[in-house]
Amino acid sequence: MSARRSTVVITGAGSGIGRATAEAFAADGWDMLLIGRRTEKLQETVAGLNNSDCATIAALDVAEPGAMKNAVQAFAQKKGGIEALVANAGINPQRANAIDTTDEFWDETLRVNLTGTHRSCQAVLPYMQKAQAGAIVTLGSIAGQVGMIDRAAYGPSKAAVIEYTRNLALDFGADHIRANCVCPGFVITDINRDWLEALPKDAHAQLVGKHPLGLGTPEDVAATILFLCQPGSRWISGVDLSVDGGYTAQ
Ligand code: NAP
Repeated sequence: MSARRSTVVITGAGSGIGRATAEAFAADGWDMLLIGRRTEKLQETVAGLNNSDCATIAALDVAEPGAMKNAVQAFAQKKGGIEALVANAGINPQRANAIDTTDEFWDETLRVNLTGTHRSCQAVLPYMQKAQAGAIVTLGSIAGQVGMIDRAAYGPSKAAVIEYTRNLALDFGADHIRANCVCPGFVITDINRDWLEALPKDAHAQLVGKHPLGLGTPEDVAATILFLCQPGSRWISGVDLSVDGGYTAQ
């Protein structure tokens, strides 16, 4: 009989950073539950893996009450536990200041980014507590660490995720559960591609110039996420780690 593989739940795994994270964990030999709303995007992620037998998919809304809990329960029972969570699903539906931010987009941004992260963590924590071990990585943003123009809803939602993660680290440290927040700089994915392409040339160059190392890739972020779930990071908890090519150094 083959040895049990470590298990990870990755939300927002149908594209961008979540997809690259699934690829990184698959290459590292994990068993994965991949979550997103669109089945076809999750299937695309699985089709791109070297070993597709290590992935289970579930199409659901992370912020919907009970949805994550049910999916995680089924997966944990089948696999015998959950070692890690990457709470990566997130949206940035409106880039606007406080006057122009609509109620609809304010509510939806907080619902998905903050409530969705909370419900994802709440779903895995009992299994980690039972095992007295676990690693949680949430996705913040540099927009949650420093001020950014036209991020009146997104920035605060990500700052709240950073603070939420610190609370997890304190509340569950005694259970040997680690919680860290990865805060990417600009990485071109579905969340920002159209917006970035529509920027005037000089504004685009200015944005790129704020990253001393240039823009990053989903794989750059995924490598850090994987590290934060591996034994080599066993004494790291409660940090918000900028993965931003130097953006927040200024
Ligand atoms: P992305 O390609 O748009 O990925 C976001 C993923 O989240 C999508 O696959 C989406 O799939 C899923 N998702 C959105 N709402 C969901 C919901 N309610 N329930 C379940 N899944 C949901 O963008 P990304 O850049 O990879 O973003 C990943 C994370 O990194 C986000 O939290 C984002 O805020 C953060 N981040 C990104 C950047 C950047 O520059 N790219 C910078 C800082 C932080 P479905 O639509 O199929 O559900």
